[in-house]
Amino acid sequence: MRIVVTGGAGFIGSALVRHLIGHTDHEVLVIDKLTYAGNLASLASVQSHPRYHFSLTDICDRSAVVDVFSSFDPDAVMHLAAESHVDRSIDGPADFITTNVVGTYVLLESALAHTRKLGRRAQDFRFLHVSTDEVYGALKDDGCFTEETRYDPRSPYSATKAASDHLVRAWSHTYGLPILLTNCSNNYGPNQFPEKLIPLMIIKGLAGEPMPVYGRGLNVRDWLFVDDHAQALTLVLERGRLGETYNIGGRAERRNIDVVSAICDVMDQLTQCPTHTSHRELITFVPDRPGHDFRYAIDFAKLHEELGWSPTHSFEAGLNATNADDPRLIIGSAVSTGISSIGFGALAIVTTPLLLTAYADMRARVEPFSTATLLHG
Ligand code: NAD
Repeated sequence: MRIVVTGGAGFIGSALVRHLIGHTDHEVLVIDKLTYAGNLASLASVQSHPRYHFSLTDICDRSAVVDVFSSFDPDAVMHLAAESHVDRSIDGPADFITTNVVGTYVLLESALAHTRKLGRRAQDFRFLHVSTDEVYGALKDDGCFTEETRYDPRSPYSATKAASDHLVRAWSHTYGLPILLTNCSNNYGPNQFPEKLIPLMIIKGLAGEPMPVYGRGLNVRDWLFVDDHAQALTLVLERGRLGETYNIGGRAERRNIDVVSAICDVMDQLTQCPTHTSHRELITFVPDRPGHDFRYAIDFAKLHEELGWSPTHSFEAGLNATNADDPRLIIGSAVSTGISSIGFGALAIVTTPLLLTAYADMRARVEPFSTATLLHG
């Protein structure tokens, strides 16, 4: 297949592109505007592959998107481009409405126009929209989100993702666009921009700065290793039933405070905390963010029963997936050490100089933004 991947320079998009190039025969064109969250270094391992192409394009720019569609002539679109950080959506919702809602509309219109030129090939075209479990709202202590759960988005981010999901279904029902939809839980793994929980805690901890945890850290998230998400998306694209929604989850619920404590423990093993005896002393509870959803958990039985998918990485194993050539992955390794020491007693071998290189690299990426105000989504 010839696949357009929007947002392919982002955290999940780049993992998906590396998977498509490394494990399938598909040809891939990334469309990305390269906002603060886009990073071409995440695609360095595939950049010279003959099946990989890149276009610096804003998905809201209709004529540019139409041009890309007519020159690349895709068989499928995997739509990941989005503004994705909840805190930023609270401070400034406008970009979220523009990219997540208007951008999705532009893509749907462009894809529909494209399918109408495909003749018999149109019946095989697919538009896979990648969405979040946050559209379902929040859970109490029990239960899981299923594909039947009523939408109840609580933040500007989740409201714009919910809106985009509705648009995608409307373009299927009204215009016959062949769509698929996925709603996934929290992802973690290499190359995540350090405003999200795990990389942010590492960057703060290594600097000896307060590690801000919302409320008492009791909010629960279901963590999925990003490569498992990439594999699930590929499976849904290739074998999912058109018009269907599939939930994707990690079966790995963790309280935020437990994740952060584990990160502190590994940093204690790797390096002296610059300001305190233990990194745990840096944990600082800050006022909860407005409308902070208490718990998310995903029931992915449909995806498992129909397509045979399950996550292949436990939370601990996912954090252990490292590559010594990439400093950002060493950061992941640092985390894995802490988690593993709790879960399995295993220790990753990471040297302090490498860790500090990793720290410098992440710090450079986050420097243009006020790290004081960057919390986690
Ligand atoms: P990200 O913020 O890391 O990356 C987003 C990418 O989209 C960036 O490369 C950015 O440059 C690009 N982009 C933003 N606006 C654009 C525009 N107007 N035109 C073209 N490109 C644009 O996001 P992510 O965490 O990789 O998430 C990818 C998708 O997966 C999003 O749709 C998100 O809602 C969804 N999702 C994320 C998670 C998670 O835990 N991160 C979980 C479930 C679903």
